[in-house]
Amino acid sequence: KLYNQVQDLKGSIRVYCRVRPFLSGQSNDLSTVHNMEDGNITISTASKHGKGYKSFSFNKVFEPCATQAEVFSDMQPLIRSVLDGYNVCIFAYGQTGSGKTYTMTGPKDLSEKNKGVNYRALGDLFLLAEQRKDTFCYNVAVQMIEIYNEQVRDLLVTDGSNKRLEIRNSSQTGLNVPDANIIPVSSTHDVIDLMNLGHRNRAVGATALNDRSSRSHSCLTVHVQGRDLASGTILRGCMHLVDLAGSERVNKSEVTGDRLKEAQHINKSLSALGDVIASLAQKNPHVPYRNSKLTQLLQDSLGGQAKTLMFVHISPEPDALGETISTLKFAERVA
Ligand code: ADP
Ligand code: MG
Repeated sequence: KLYNQVQDLKGSIRVYCRVRPFLSGQSNDLSTVHNMEDGNITISTASKHGKGYKSFSFNKVFEPCATQAEVFSDMQPLIRSVLDGYNVCIFAYGQTGSGKTYTMTGPKDLSEKNKGVNYRALGDLFLLAEQRKDTFCYNVAVQMIEIYNEQVRDLLVTDGSNKRLEIRNSSQTGLNVPDANIIPVSSTHDVIDLMNLGHRNRAVGATALNDRSSRSHSCLTVHVQGRDLASGTILRGCMHLVDLAGSERVNKSEVTGDRLKEAQHINKSLSALGDVIASLAQKNPHVPYRNSKLTQLLQDSLGGQAKTLMFVHISPEPDALGETISTLKFAERVA
C-alpha cells in the first residue's frame, strides 16, 4: 500500500504516438507505417536502395482511425491529479500538418464529436469539481500565451496590445507569467470563448504565406485552486496544454532572414524540451530548464511530482518519411 502511495506521488512521463489518416482519400497501402501493435510502430523505410524497417516503442500508439474520444479516453487520472493539487503538462509534438492542432483543439469545423483534448480536459475538470462540491470549493482560471522567436506574448488581450512578457516563476502567486491576463472561468463555455479569442489573436500578423501558428508554441494554462471545506487547506494545481511549433527541419541553404531566425528559435526550444524530458526520464540530477523560454515556462510542471503526457504526431505520406523518422527518434529519446 505504502509503495503504491509513493508511486502515486512520483511524477511520470508518458508518450503516445498518433498517426494521422491520409487526407485526400488515398489508400492506406501507401502509408509509410508498416505495422502498429501494442505500443509499437514499425515504419517502412523502403527506398531505391531496397527494403528496410525501423521500429519504435511508446506507451500507446493510436491508429489513423482512432477517434478524439479514444485519444482522450484514459486521461481522467491526469485531470483528477490537477484537482488534487498536482501539475500536469500535455504536449502535441510533430511536423506541420501532422495533426497537433487536431489533437489539442480539433478541426476547423468543430462538432461535439471531434472536439480535441483541450475541450475534453476542461469538460472533465468542471465535471469532477462539481462531483466534489460537498468537500471542496474550486476556483478555475486560465491564461493563454504564445512563444514566438523566444518572446512571450499574451493571447488573451482584447485591446490588440502586443507587449512582451517575462517569465518569472513567482512562488508567491504560483504564476509563471504574472503579467499575462488570468481570467476566471466557471464553465466550458467560458473557456471556449477565451480559446476563440486566443486563436484570433494568434492569427494576427500571419499572412497566408506566413502561417505563424505553425512556427510558435501556444500554451493554454488552467490554474486550479481548491479549498478543503472541512480543514480550510488550499490545494493548487495547474495544467499546461501546449500546441508546439512544427518540428520540421528547414533546409538552411533555402531559407534566410526572418525565416531562418524562426527556424533556429524553434530548433533550439524543441531540443531544449527534448533535453529536459530526456534528463528527467533518465533521473539525471541536473535538468537544463534554463535553455529556452518554453522549458522555463513549464519548469514547475515538468519533473518533480508533475505528470507529463506527450502526443507525438506523424503523417503517413511517403514524402514525410524523413520527418517521420526524426520525430519518432525525438520521441523515443524521451519515452
Ligand atoms: P498541425 O497542427 O500539426 O500543423 P493540423 O492539426 O492542422 O496539423 O492537421 C492538418 C490537417 O489534417 C487538418 O486539416 C486537420 O483537420 C487534419 N487532421 C489531422 N489529424 C486528423 C485526424 N486524426 N483525423 C482527421 N483529420 C485530421
Ligand atoms: Mg497546428
